[in-house]
Amino acid sequence: MKITDLKCAIIGGSPIVRITTDAGIDGLGQGEAYKPYLKPHVLFYKDLILGEDPTDVERVMLKIRRLGAFKPWGTAVSAIEVALWDIAGKAAGVPVYKLLGGKVRDRVRVYNGAVRFPMKGYSPKHYAEDMQKMKEAKEGFTIIKQGISFHSQTPYNIPDYFYGELQTGPRPQNRGLLTEKGMKHAIACVEAMKDVLGDEIGMALDCGPGWTLPDAIRFAKAVEPYNIMWLEDMITGDYTPYVLADLYRDVTMSTSTPIHTGEQIYLRQHFKDLFEKQAIRVAGPDPLDVGGIAELKWITEYADLHGVLMAPHGTGDGLIGLAALVQVSATLPRNYIAFEYPVAKPAWWYDIIEGLPDPIVKKGHIDVWDTPGLGVKFNVRAAKKYLDTSDKGFFE
Ligand SMILES: [Mg+2]
Repeated sequence: MKITDLKCAIIGGSPIVRITTDAGIDGLGQGEAYKPYLKPHVLFYKDLILGEDPTDVERVMLKIRRLGAFKPWGTAVSAIEVALWDIAGKAAGVPVYKLLGGKVRDRVRVYNGAVRFPMKGYSPKHYAEDMQKMKEAKEGFTIIKQGISFHSQTPYNIPDYFYGELQTGPRPQNRGLLTEKGMKHAIACVEAMKDVLGDEIGMALDCGPGWTLPDAIRFAKAVEPYNIMWLEDMITGDYTPYVLADLYRDVTMSTSTPIHTGEQIYLRQHFKDLFEKQAIRVAGPDPLDVGGIAELKWITEYADLHGVLMAPHGTGDGLIGLAALVQVSATLPRNYIAFEYPVAKPAWWYDIIEGLPDPIVKKGHIDVWDTPGLGVKFNVRAAKKYLDTSDKGFFE
């Protein structure tokens, strides 16, 4: 089998990858919905993979993997990898999880990082109200992650939250030392949310990046009584193009609260220090940024050898990304906690993708399906009306 084309369309903001072959089998991949600008970057790899056998996934990846980077520049390579596995699974007549080593669980736990309600404010009371709504969500999540501090609008809504200068404009990134008032506010929000959840549902917090090292240590210690599942991305994360494992190690060694990072990181090599130095307790790579699902599997195995847990990122990964997350998560070792369940926006996505269970999430889990490849496909007739004119030939 040979690859005959690599196509990319922007559908509902998401870069969607479609690889075609001379055997009439195609494969789908997807990047986060926030990255419509990646289309030319996906197509950059086309000449490098044309004519290759897509079922030799690793041989194809060797041609393109070195030409990616940290988020968002690992997305294209990752989406191509996912599409190759989709083809390989369809060609073999088996679900992708079989090719990744086989499943070790029939249903995968997911956590809530995307089912959201509008926040009325950023006081502890508002956080408690919001948490109550998420607790009651129909998906029945057993773990809920909330954005606080620099990973929220808090610095803009709580006066004198930190000593730094408030950043404005597109993609602002605040960073600086918290005031005592700011620190007390962050801790009070945690207390208020835990009051709502009790010990029935686990709570994780997406915190930054933007924290200074002393604040990160002080906060992680202060919330120790609340048994937080993890504190995410305090030092680096999101679009930070580096890791700073030594700083993470300082935080981790100072506290019993599990420290988490990794969603922006590209490739296994950049997890080496985090694991070998015991710098974090939980890793959260996104398969659509880290280099793909086989890459995520490898990283999870290596994490397990070092006592590090795994909670893959996925909030913006869409429905093809969701399928990829389900397939790989079914195969991960038992250091797997849950992946971040993506909600597809706009809602018409649920009308144009077929193959997902209905409802998708039951009691905080997704049943692993057995259809070949990723097991999802476009309803082409329904999807065509959402194609931009420049993407007209995408399904041909
Ligand atoms: Mg995050």
